[in-house]
Amino acid sequence: MRVGFVGWRGMVGSVLMERMLAENGFSGLESYFFSTSNVSGKGPDVGEGETVLQDAFDLKALAEMEVILTCQGGGYTTEIYGKLRESGWSGYWIDAASTLRMEEEARIVLDPVNRPIIDDALAAGIKTYAGGNCTVSLMLMALAGLFKADLVEWLTSMTYQSASGAGAANMQELAAQMAVIGDYARPVLDDPAATALDLDRRVTEALGSDSLPVSNFGVPLAASLIPWIDRPVDKGQTREEWKGIAETNRILGTKREIPIDGICVRVGAMRCHSQGFTIKLKKDVPLDEITEIIGSANDWVEVIDNKKEDTLKRLSPAAVSGTLKVPVGRIRKMLIGDDYLTAFSVGDQLLWGAAEPLHRMLRILRDYLGR
Ligand code: NAP
Repeated sequence: MRVGFVGWRGMVGSVLMERMLAENGFSGLESYFFSTSNVSGKGPDVGEGETVLQDAFDLKALAEMEVILTCQGGGYTTEIYGKLRESGWSGYWIDAASTLRMEEEARIVLDPVNRPIIDDALAAGIKTYAGGNCTVSLMLMALAGLFKADLVEWLTSMTYQSASGAGAANMQELAAQMAVIGDYARPVLDDPAATALDLDRRVTEALGSDSLPVSNFGVPLAASLIPWIDRPVDKGQTREEWKGIAETNRILGTKREIPIDGICVRVGAMRCHSQGFTIKLKKDVPLDEITEIIGSANDWVEVIDNKKEDTLKRLSPAAVSGTLKVPVGRIRKMLIGDDYLTAFSVGDQLLWGAAEPLHRMLRILRDYLGR
C-alpha cells in the first residue's frame, strides 16, 4: 500500500511517527514522505533505508498515493485537498486538521468511541477521515461509557488546556516564560529572610517585564492563565467551545443533538489537557454503576478513586504526559441533585488528542483493505 505522509516532522506528525515506529506500523507499507519546505532533502528512515522528500504541492506525486496521511495543517488541506479530488484522485485522505471535519464526505475518527461509524463509512465508500479536536476526543475517551449507555442529557466542560494545543512555538514560549520568572524569583528564593510577599512582588514584576516573551500567547501564561482559545464565533462562544457540541455530536452520530457547552481555558501545562465536567444524567444511577460504566468503556480510561492521595498521584498532567492513559476521577453526585454528576479527566492531547486516532485509522484501513 502506497502511503504518503505529509506533515510528518511537525509536532503532531512527530508523535505519529513515534507511535507508528513503536507499533511496527511502517512494516509492509510503501511509505513516501512529503515536504512543503525541503523537497529532495533527506527523509526519515523507517526501517527500509533512507528516503527522499517529495514535493507536498506536486499533485501528480500525491495522486500516486493510495493513502495520504497529513498532519501539515489546515492551510495545506485547504490548498491541496479540493484540487486533488477534482483531478480525479480517489484515494484515502486521513487528516489531523479541522478543515474537513464537518464536511458531508468526511467522518471524524476516534475508533474506541465510534468504530461502528468508521466501519459503516468504509463500507459505504467514504474516503476522507479527520481526527477530532483534541479536547473533544479526550472528553469522549473519558466519558464514552456514559454516552454509550445514553445517560447524558447535557454536559458542560470547563477545560484546562496545555500549551502544546497552540503549537510548538507556544510550548517553547511557556518554558521561556517560566525561566524568566525563575530568574526574577531566584534572589528572593535564595534569601532565607525574604517573605512570600517579597517573592510575589518579584513574580509580578517578571510578569510585567519586557524580558518575558509573549509574542505567541500575547500575554503571560506561566503563573497565569488565558480563558480564551481560538477565535470568536456566535453567541459569545469561542470556536474551541463550539467544537465541543458540534464535533461531539458528529463523532457520536447522534440523532438528537446532546447540548454541550463550557469555557475553554489555556493553562501552563505542557501537553496534557484536563477538563472538569458537570453532567446532567437522564436518570439517577447509583455511583458504583456509574464508575463501572465509565471505567469499562475502553482499554485506556481509568477510574481514579475520589481520594486525595490517588488524585494527586494519578490525576494530573504530570502523571499522564506521554502516555495513552485517560484517568477520570473526582467522580461524585453533586449536591444540586442525584442526577447531576461531576468528574475530572486528564489526557495527552498529542496522543489521543491528535496522533493516535490517525495512527489507528491507518491500521483500520489496512485491515479493511486486507493490506
Ligand atoms: P506544526 O508543528 O506547526 O507542524 C506543521 C508543519 O510545519 C510541519 O509538518 C513542517 O512542514 C513545518 N515546520 C516548519 N518549521 C518546523 C520545525 N522547526 N519543526 C517541525 N516542523 C516545522 O503543526 P502541528 O501542531 O503538528 O499541527 C498540525 C495539524 O494538526 C494542524 O492542522 C493542527 O490544527 C492539527 N492538530 C494539532 C493538534 C495540536 O495539539 N498541536 C491537535 C489536533 C490537531 P514541512 O516539513 O513541510 O516544512
